Amino acid sequence: MRAAVVHELGRPLTVEDRPVPRPGLHQVLVRIEASGLCHTDIHAARGDWPVQPTPPFVPGHEGVGVVEALGDGVEGVAVGQRVALPWLGYACGHCDQCTGGWETLCLEQRNTGYGMDGGYAEHALADARYAVPVPDGVDPLDAAPLTCAGVTTYKAVKVGGVRPTDLVLVSGIGGLGHLALQYAKVFGGTVVAVDVEDEKLQLAEELGADHVLDARTDDVAAEVQRLGGADVALGLAVSPASLDTAYASLRRGGRLVLVSLPADGVLQVPVFDLVLGGKSVIGSIVGTRSDLAEVFELHRLGRTRVVRETRRLEDVNACFEEVLAGSVPARLVFDLR
Ligand code: NAD
Ligand code: ZN
Ligand code: ZN
Repeated sequence: MRAAVVHELGRPLTVEDRPVPRPGLHQVLVRIEASGLCHTDIHAARGDWPVQPTPPFVPGHEGVGVVEALGDGVEGVAVGQRVALPWLGYACGHCDQCTGGWETLCLEQRNTGYGMDGGYAEHALADARYAVPVPDGVDPLDAAPLTCAGVTTYKAVKVGGVRPTDLVLVSGIGGLGHLALQYAKVFGGTVVAVDVEDEKLQLAEELGADHVLDARTDDVAAEVQRLGGADVALGLAVSPASLDTAYASLRRGGRLVLVSLPADGVLQVPVFDLVLGGKSVIGSIVGTRSDLAEVFELHRLGRTRVVRETRRLEDVNACFEEVLAGSVPARLVFDLR
């Protein structure tokens, strides 16, 4: 099978032939049809974060495909079924976090495309218990970005507690942000979209943002404060400065939900302002299997639009450059069919 492999952190990936793996206990073998490129894959390949992946590995946690073979002990998944292979590739299933509805915080978790090989390949293995069924009627090319960008921002909107009267700042209208904007609207919020690329600002308008700000030229915090301040601000841009701006945009009682993970990101919060303003800063990591099922259902119902362009796996390194240049509206998806 063809696979894009990181052999050394910070070096280009190589697209090479690898043997098709055999499914072990609880595993399924999935023939990948579509695989989204999340900015996290770039962080992974560069070793941007304190916990680094160990090469060689195949990135990708937006893989969607059809189950081709079952390992021992697999229940509830059938050959021929379409499934998504999200970031949460495995969790223990019995710790406090797992049983309390927070499997994404399980200490035993393994992550697809980071701690185990992911979706940048024609085949991938997955723990059947953490592969999420993709409903009929959802195009696999749409399902791929929903598998991380979708579920992550849907969860962030939930964690932020967005209500119909809320002003919601969406900072960064990329792969994540273009879906965050739509979920904020689904929950009834009024959306202020911010980016630094003309195409993204244009896209935000097309997707129904109520206000659009250009962080290159607008004083974002001042503009949002003029609108009353953000009840919820979603930090999705790979820019530490944008997170400071998002905090400064909050109204009293506002919630800043941090999602983006810039290398060496540090947020300095003025304690007096946070305490007397009753503000919160919340970290949000992907979403559960159940969140992802809801994301697929919303899409099946026609409530969301995935903006994506397809690419060949062979072009993976050029695709990384495109995403870094901010020139992609909004998600790149490798078409492996
Ligand atoms: P992306 O590159 O598609 O989108 C980032 C967007 O931010 C781009 O549109 C870019 O133009 C814009 N931007 C850059 N500088 C800006 C600024 N100063 N102000 C406003 N916008 C700005 O990336 P993505 O795939 O959407 O991922 C974003 C981040 O989220 C990455 O760091 C990724 O690792 C992280 N992530 C986190 C989770 C999680 O669970 N917490 C899940 C997925 C991705
Ligand atoms: Zn991701
Ligand atoms: Zn657990």
